[in-house]
Amino acid sequence: ERIEDKLYQNRYLVDTGRPHIKVRPHLSPSPNLLALTQICPAKCYEENDAGQVEIVVDGCMECGTCRVLCEANGDIEWNYPRGGFGILFKFG
Ligand code: SF4
Repeated sequence: ERIEDKLYQNRYLVDTGRPHIKVRPHLSPSPNLLALTQICPAKCYEENDAGQVEIVVDGCMECGTCRVLCEANGDIEWNYPRGGFGILFKFG
């Protein structure tokens, strides 16, 4: 079975108005932040027309990649979603 098929079985519950990851406002992104537009497996990060990086957390798999790359330098704030929200993994 392909990973895409597995991922399709997962459900995501949006915690409206309370995103668990926030990008710090910036004029231009750091190299790490920009890299997330390529690296995030859920494609949550996008570069907008102004060259800034934005996040839509819907579908985030909580893989932690962006946390490792961008939390310590302050590019993002990262928290686990509140209980019952976020990715609901379903196996099998
Ligand atoms: Fe993407 Fe992983 Fe960060 Fe979620 S935790 S936004 S899936 S890189």
